[in-house]
Amino acid sequence: MRVLGIETSCDETGVAIYDTGKGLLGHALFSQVDLHAEYGGVVPELASRDHVRKLLPLVREVMRRTDTHPRDLDGIAYTAGPGLVGALMVGACAGRALAYGWGLPAVAVHHMEGHLLAPMLEERPPSFPFVALLVSGGHTQLVDVRGLGDYRLMGESLDDAAGEAFDKAAKMLDLDYPGGPRLAALAEKGDPERFTFPRPMTDRPGLDFSFSGLKTYTLTTVRQYAQADGLPDEQTCADIAAAFQEAVVDTLVIKCRRAIRVSGHKTLVVAGGVSANKLLRTRLESRLREEGAGVYYPRHEFCTDNGAMIAYAGCLRLQAGERSGLAVEVRPRWPMMELDGSLS
Ligand code: ATP
Ligand code: MG
Ligand code: FE
Repeated sequence: MRVLGIETSCDETGVAIYDTGKGLLGHALFSQVDLHAEYGGVVPELASRDHVRKLLPLVREVMRRTDTHPRDLDGIAYTAGPGLVGALMVGACAGRALAYGWGLPAVAVHHMEGHLLAPMLEERPPSFPFVALLVSGGHTQLVDVRGLGDYRLMGESLDDAAGEAFDKAAKMLDLDYPGGPRLAALAEKGDPERFTFPRPMTDRPGLDFSFSGLKTYTLTTVRQYAQADGLPDEQTCADIAAAFQEAVVDTLVIKCRRAIRVSGHKTLVVAGGVSANKLLRTRLESRLREEGAGVYYPRHEFCTDNGAMIAYAGCLRLQAGERSGLAVEVRPRWPMMELDGSLS
């Protein structure tokens, strides 16, 4: 089975073709980072319009590069949510229309299921069951994954997502959008021991997270050391970045260990943009080894949004017999636990 995947939920246009026999044949991504940078965040209407401009050229490019003719395809998968409504509409309408025109089945994919399954595109894929830590710009969740679509929420952030907290802390340090990776780079020059930031909700049982207090703590520290230009000196900024990153990573690691113990599973899958974070990866690997658990990630470029994860998730769902109707429906808010687990 060969599936074309389309991702347009936020600010990246992603297209990929996955083949069950040959694996990932090709993928292409257009990031709108430069477009939104001057506004310090994603402007939804600009995002939608740019998806309109970029999507079909990317589809053509991936089809050509992988030497795929429409008749070689067995289905089209598109992200139907969660995400920005206008951005989702572009990918969903295009995916649905191409499928109709080419006489192919279409399937609506949940963006977070795409993230969750992305590590399965790697050479050493994880197998069910496992605990998944989804850490992205909009989500921080621990999920008990028993099979395709069989997801139980173990815990989640009660306020900001981890990626969102990274982006906001980065803004306080005057780093450009998107701040997460920039803050992580700055943290490498900092002394992680100069400041100790709180580890929210780790002193009580449970698997929920809260990152908004950490954000306030960061702001207070920035203000405390601010000079005439409103920012602390360079070294202090780096030290704050390091303290912030330590606190987020430590909090995530503590909860992952707990989740592994509670679930009884021996595998942790980490996905979403923040799973690209180097410190998070090294810490999780060493601390989970102590629990006898293995840790799996997507390759770096598939941590953040991409078409490959949508092609792959869509392929599994098409194989399981799922089809979406002719009406184009998107769900800007769509809890992943509502997905059908009877497929696996
Ligand atoms: P969602 O998937 O929840 O809808 P999203 O699609 O916007 O949200 P992703 O594209 O998965 O999120 O990830 C983007 C987030 O990951 C941003 O918040 C970004 O700052 C963060 N991020 C990316 N790389 C790193 C890194 N190295 N360290 C920390 N955060 C990072
Ligand atoms: Mg993005
Ligand atoms: Fe995402």
